[in-house]
Parts: sequence; structure tokens; C-alpha cells
Amino acid sequence: MNLPPPRSSRYGELIARLDAFESRVQAAQGSFLRCAAGCDACCRLRRSAFPVEVAAIRAHLSTLAPATLETLRARQGDPEVVAGRRCAFLAPDGHCAVYQARPIVCRTHGPAIRTSDGLSYCRLNFEGLSAASVEERLPPDAVMNLELVNRMLVLIDTAYRAEVALSDAVPVRLDLAEALSP
Ligand code: SF4
Ligand code: SF4
Repeated sequence: MNLPPPRSSRYGELIARLDAFESRVQAAQGSFLRCAAGCDACCRLRRSAFPVEVAAIRAHLSTLAPATLETLRARQGDPEVVAGRRCAFLAPDGHCAVYQARPIVCRTHGPAIRTSDGLSYCRLNFEGLSAASVEERLPPDAVMNLELVNRMLVLIDTAYRAEVALSDAVPVRLDLAEALSP
């Protein structure tokens, strides 16, 4: 599938804002988080993302050494990946092979996020704390408003589809492994 790199800087700007947000999260929540390379329960599934995100991952992959890319492609035959029980980019040692370019959904796992249903977070984090206690400890600017982020992402992806004249036949979300296709 032809997925040119995004020409507009909007997706990169959203990622930069989320990176800045992550610094605030680390400052406010870091001591309660177990998220780290090797803790990969949230990566043991088939992951999908919007075309603009898959295009950004593909652009990132194009900067890797050919041998690294070959290793990633070969890993797609892993029975766990084929069965959808492992993300296409989860390395054997539990780290993310595209960490810098990982999609938005991967940036929302772990720390506290807010939705219209309230606060939510990975249960491996904030061990021993009640939801009310987590709520009390977190400054508002260190909790992601997930619905707002998702709305921005949908707008950016819609603009990307128009910008690169993506066919209507291309699904709204793509398997992340599509980034590895030629
Ligand atoms: S892209 Fe990386 S962080 Fe996201 S699910 Fe895959 S391995 Fe995990
Ligand atoms: S979200 Fe949960 S499973 Fe994923 S890295 Fe963080 S603590 Fe581990």
C-alpha cells in the first residue's frame, strides 16, 4: 500500500506535544509507574493505527539499517504475531522496535488518562493506591484528556488522507505491520 510520509507537520506537532506531556507525567506520576522496556503486557496483541501513524512508522523504518529492517520483517512470521497475540514491533527482549515512532494508542497506556467515564490507567501502575487517591495526587496537566487527543488525531488523519489522495478503499485503521510492507 502506498503510504507517503505526511507532508504536513501536524502529526509531528501532536507527537511533540505528547512527548512534552510525557515529561510532565514522569515528573508527577513517575514514582508510581512500572512502565519500562521489558514490561510488555500492553504489547501482546495485534495493534492497529490510523494511516497517518502507519506512514510515520514507515518513514521511521526507512532510516534503519537494512539488516535491522530484515530482522523486523522476519519476525512477522513469529506464530504469536501471526495469531495476533503479539505486536509486530515487540522485540524478544520486550522493548518496542519503533519506540520513537510508536502510534498514539501506545502513548496512552500506563499513566492516568481521563475519559468521559473517568480516570483510567494500567493496573500494574499506582500499586496499592485507590482510584480516588490517584486522582488526588495528580495535577490536571499531567493527566491526558484522551477524547481530545483522539479528536485531534482523527482530524490530522483526515487531512493526511486528503493530502496524499488515499483511496476510500483504505480502511480507517490499518494493522501496524502494514508499515513493514514495501
Ligand atoms: S508499537 Fe511498540 S509500544 Fe506499541 S504495541 Fe507495538 S511494541 Fe508495544
Ligand atoms: S502500561 Fe502496564 S503493561 Fe504496559 S508497560 Fe506500562 S505497566 Fe507495563
